[in-house]
Amino acid sequence: MLRGLPSVDRVLSDPVGMAAAQRFGRAAVTEAARKVLAELRSAPAAGMPVILPDAAGVAESAAQWLEARDQPQLRPVFNLTGTVLHTNLGRAQLAEAAIEAAVTAMREAVALEFELGTGRRGERDDLVRSLLCELTGAEDATLVNNNAAAVLIALNTLGAGREAIVSRGELIEIGGAFRMPDIMARAGVALVEVGTTNRTHSRDYRGALRPETGLILKVHTSNYRIEGFTAEVAAPALAVLAREHGVPLLNDLGSGTLMDLSRYGLAREPTVREAIAEGADLVTFSGDKLLGGPQAGFILGRRDLITAINRNPMKRALRVDKIRLAALEATLKLYRNPDRLTARLPTLRMLARSQAEIEAQARRLVTAVAACLPAGMTVDAVPCASQIGSGALPLNTMPSYALRLTAHGGGALEQLSAALRALPTPVIGRIRDGAMLLDLRCLSDEARFLAAMAALPAAHELA
Ligand SMILES: *Cc1c(COP(=O)(O)O)cnc(C)c1O
Repeated sequence: MLRGLPSVDRVLSDPVGMAAAQRFGRAAVTEAARKVLAELRSAPAAGMPVILPDAAGVAESAAQWLEARDQPQLRPVFNLTGTVLHTNLGRAQLAEAAIEAAVTAMREAVALEFELGTGRRGERDDLVRSLLCELTGAEDATLVNNNAAAVLIALNTLGAGREAIVSRGELIEIGGAFRMPDIMARAGVALVEVGTTNRTHSRDYRGALRPETGLILKVHTSNYRIEGFTAEVAAPALAVLAREHGVPLLNDLGSGTLMDLSRYGLAREPTVREAIAEGADLVTFSGDKLLGGPQAGFILGRRDLITAINRNPMKRALRVDKIRLAALEATLKLYRNPDRLTARLPTLRMLARSQAEIEAQARRLVTAVAACLPAGMTVDAVPCASQIGSGALPLNTMPSYALRLTAHGGGALEQLSAALRALPTPVIGRIRDGAMLLDLRCLSDEARFLAAMAALPAAHELA
């Protein structure tokens, strides 16, 4: 029976095969056709009933396989997890102005390290340096690949071969193996821990200061809180101590916001401007956390120290490319008009959405979503709590609203979760109390979401 299968040559000379070859290349279609034919040959053994396809049919299957293989691996998803800055889902979604600037930088030659005024070689960081200083009051600024890199190069520049003093309460681990003691070791800095997990005093730092001290490091405990019987030395007091002993104070803010978030009903997080004003010699923070821009790490502060960092050979290895520089410049410029920020910057827009607005959205969507669900599954609108994510304000949640999908029967919830992830635009929610919660805080395009949900398979097709 298998002798009826077309040859690879027949598949390639069929009009469907020729069209596929135009699109994917002859070699790829040949490979895909061989694959399809090999599967058909093995099908009877696997017990599948086979109606032998003709050359056009094989060409069609080959083209489909090639099409599927060409799908981008970095797929857009609906982030309905309730975590606005979800590291595993790419953190900040950029502002339109940033997207446009990045696209231009990708498409065109740009004056990246070229002074248009003089025609001389320029510095790529100059594009955002004065903007950063203007927005934060810092004397000077530089930037690198991400905040982990910012901490690494700052430590290495200030403290290589010397010691850095850190409170035991601040020896953080951020997800993805960023552990302060390990970063210190890689930076060539000897870690001197002071105080205890819950209490560190001025005298602890003072007792550790000696000629070998290269710097004092303060780390914002961005993804946890130590509560109860606690004491820490605030940055202003540490700055005084550091100055007395002639060593720099490095304050790693982590999330680092340029705005007072209480303006949006969120808890106060120290702003970068405040951290600079408190007397830190250097301050580091991320570009894609609360700032709402692309991945980057900023180092702001004393000009002599920034100059030293820029001369560190590591700088070349950690530098930021033109695409991100363009997006950063556009993002930072939005901060010149704080009143329009929530309209223009998706991160802040999502953080600032009120529960009432999200509830109205949930109630609008519930009937249409019910119509998309496989039989035996139900949906209702329920209050929930979202979080900022990426280690910002770990204990503060924002009241929000979710679509709660309930699946009845053993394994049904896992099946539903898998089906949502398998959609052409996957929908990522979170499982809570035996149901799938789709927190709508980060949903802006309702029509696209409903179109995605409409592709859910029927109950009997669920894996
Ligand atoms: C997030 C964070 C980092 C790492 O920043 P990335 O931008 O993720 O590299 C370092 N320190 C603190 C305190 C952080 O919160």
